[in-house]
Amino acid sequence: MVADVLQDPNVRGRLHKPSRGKMVTDPDGSNCSYRGCGGKRCGGKHVSMFPSSDTYHNYSSPGFNVIERHNGVANVGFADGHVKAMKHATLYNNGSKAPYFNYSE
Ligand SMILES: [Zn+2]
Repeated sequence: MVADVLQDPNVRGRLHKPSRGKMVTDPDGSNCSYRGCGGKRCGGKHVSMFPSSDTYHNYSSPGFNVIERHNGVANVGFADGHVKAMKHATLYNNGSKAPYFNYSE
C-alpha cells in the first residue's frame, strides 16, 4: 500500500507497480542508467525526487520505484496494517505481480 519510493515527478508520491518495469537506478538510487542527448549516461544517485526536465531524464519515469533508503531496505506498509523492512528485489520479483501486487483493482 505504501513504501519508501524514489518519487516520480510526473505523479508525486505514487508507488509504482512491478509492471512499470525495472527501476532505472540501483535499489539504493545510485548508478542511474538514463542517457541524455549524445548518449552520455547520467550515472547519478537519486534518493528523493527523480529528476524530470533536465537533459538526461526528460520527463521519464524511474520504473518500479521502491528505494532501499534505510540500511539496505525499504519501509513497506501493507493494507492489513503490518509494516516490514524489505528488499527492492523481493518486492519487484522480476516484474511479477505475485506475491505482493496481485490484488484486485
Ligand atoms: Zn539520473
